[in-house]
Amino acid sequence: APSLLWFRDDLRLSDNPALAALAEARAPIAALYVLDEDSPGLRPLGGAARWWLAQSLRALSAELKRKGVPLILRRGPANRMVPEVAAALGAATVAFNDRAGAPEARVDHAVAARLLSEDRRVLSFCAHLLHPPGSIEGASGRMPRTFSSFQRAALKARRLDAPLPVPKHLRGVARPPAGEELESFGLEPTHPDWAAGLRTTWTAGEAAAQARLAAFIDSGLKGYAAGRDRPDEGHVSRLSPHLRFGEISPRQILSAVRHAAEAGAVTLADADKFEAELYWREFSYHLLADQPDMAQRNIQGAFDGFPWRECPGELKAWHRGLTGYPLVDAGMRQLWQTGWMHNRVRMVVASFLAKHLLIDWRAGEDWFWDTLVDADPASNPASWQWVAGSGLDAAPYFRIFNPVTQGEKFDPDGAYVRAFVPELAKLPTPFIHKPWTADAHALAHAGIRLGHTYPRPLVDHGAARERALRALESTRK
Ligand code: FAD
Repeated sequence: APSLLWFRDDLRLSDNPALAALAEARAPIAALYVLDEDSPGLRPLGGAARWWLAQSLRALSAELKRKGVPLILRRGPANRMVPEVAAALGAATVAFNDRAGAPEARVDHAVAARLLSEDRRVLSFCAHLLHPPGSIEGASGRMPRTFSSFQRAALKARRLDAPLPVPKHLRGVARPPAGEELESFGLEPTHPDWAAGLRTTWTAGEAAAQARLAAFIDSGLKGYAAGRDRPDEGHVSRLSPHLRFGEISPRQILSAVRHAAEAGAVTLADADKFEAELYWREFSYHLLADQPDMAQRNIQGAFDGFPWRECPGELKAWHRGLTGYPLVDAGMRQLWQTGWMHNRVRMVVASFLAKHLLIDWRAGEDWFWDTLVDADPASNPASWQWVAGSGLDAAPYFRIFNPVTQGEKFDPDGAYVRAFVPELAKLPTPFIHKPWTADAHALAHAGIRLGHTYPRPLVDHGAARERALRALESTRK
């Protein structure tokens, strides 16, 4: 009897345990993707992630087709769609890889219960993470409360098996149940078509993810430990959206990096630093399992009465990259144009919103959710709370990034700012991160009229810092 493979955040054929299990059983397979915007509690994907999903499904469908396996697309609540397709197919087995997140787990539970009641076999696997959520425990029996103790415990428990290859013997069903056209999902923008920058920046899909990993190991990884903080350099992998949609697995990435280190192609220091970043991803996902509502609720209750300011005008200036601080503005424009932002700059813009402007971190998390191609339900809220100070093992409350010195340190020639804030491109380097200090001659020469062609700073750094420290003191009592 045929088998049904239900794809979710695992849009790949290699290192896909659900697919491998079905392939091993040698039954003919049909694949299914359900766009579920109906089940209660699921957070609808943001705009940039929807765009990515469309490209990724197109790539997956083409790859499956080459192997003779049809991909059926359906839209609706998963607990109706999956059993319906399984019944139409006459599937004996349905397999999938687990998703993190409580609402997703509830849906999966309901689907599995229904399938089992219809006498179908259900197989599920952990493939999105290196360690199943809940499996890393500290002395308290809960997940360790600091990143370093989490990583230590995880490394002790780790068994790094070799990633699975694409199954050799794949057979598709001859007459798959009917599905819908990808276009009917409406995942891509039409009017206005804001995705041009995304199209020129990214190629989605498993093959592109593998190519990205190979290129990163060839060039970026060498010098990662020192270079990863430089938005003007190419030392980070940009694998995040591929990981978000499971076009590549963390195990594939980790073993490739380990191999490169063992072969002496990169130093252990670079490999270890990169591995630690992958563990920040694990930490965030395990935290999500521990705190399912962390996108809405402060992890540290002391922040519940925090005096956030309501100021839609300032929030809008931040959205648009018009705060008057060049590094912040470059980051926000990189995000809008490409759907991605460098990690160092994410920290600076997030700190600017939550501390300089005292705007609730949830407003920033929401904007990132809508505009990032890698927006994920774990790393996004966890990182926002980390920066705001309300998170687990968060940045100390008194750490308020100075957007000028951060720029001078991590974008010393201003190349990053010049690339994304073109109206400042001609400003001499000593002023590039603080145009308001430039003399009239330098400004005129660079074609800048402060307050007209580029804004003056929305807030004074020193005054904003003092205000934030006073507000943050309230969380220490
Ligand atoms: P690399 O440096 O090449 O790292 C490799 C991988 O490790 C990344 O792809 C990512 O999966 C993981 N990783 C690296 N840094 C972190 C981190 N600090 N936390 C968790 N995982 C990490 N990352 C997301 O994937 N989705 C998000 O929605 C997201 N939102 C963020 C919001 C804020 C305010 C901040 C400060 C960070 C956020 N991050 C998020 C974490 C980090 O910025 C990105 O993972 C990273 O910039 C992706 O680029 P890269 O793949 O080139 O990273």
